[in-house]
Amino acid sequence: MGNNRTFTMIKPDAFAKGNTGAIIQKITNSGFKIVALKLTKLSPERAAEFYAIHKDKSFYNNLIEFMISGPIIAAVLEKKNAVDDFRALIGATNPEDAAEGTIRNLYATNVTNNAIHGSDSDENAAIEIAFHFKEEEIVTY
Ligand code: UDP
Repeated sequence: MGNNRTFTMIKPDAFAKGNTGAIIQKITNSGFKIVALKLTKLSPERAAEFYAIHKDKSFYNNLIEFMISGPIIAAVLEKKNAVDDFRALIGATNPEDAAEGTIRNLYATNVTNNAIHGSDSDENAAIEIAFHFKEEEIVTY
């Protein structure tokens, strides 16, 4: 699917607040097709691997602690220009900077507990999809 797929996680804060349904509705209303979806909980090892690129950052320990604090919803989404369009839909990393109506503007708590993840490149989307889903878990329809 090349640039037509992205990966997302509804993070533990948004899940715990009961915002999963509203967020999924916003995603599908914005033209994204869900082709894989699961409820899961990251182990410390898996969270560390997923965020390995940030391991030297000051926020890393907080980020890992947060990401393992409760269930997440992981999903694969399809749409033309999926990565960029989804980044626009979720808004800036810090909800204080996120545009009006974006998912982080509406549902994030703070810069760490920011409700949702979206892949930042086609290359990372492919890596993140493979990290969370087997090819046979991705549905063609
Ligand atoms: N993060 C944080 N503090 C920061 C920047 C990032 O806690 O100053 C967390 C936040 O949860 C973010 C994740 O680390 O979503 C990954 O950071 P990245 O810069 O990749 O932001 P994203 O691509 O998620 O917007």
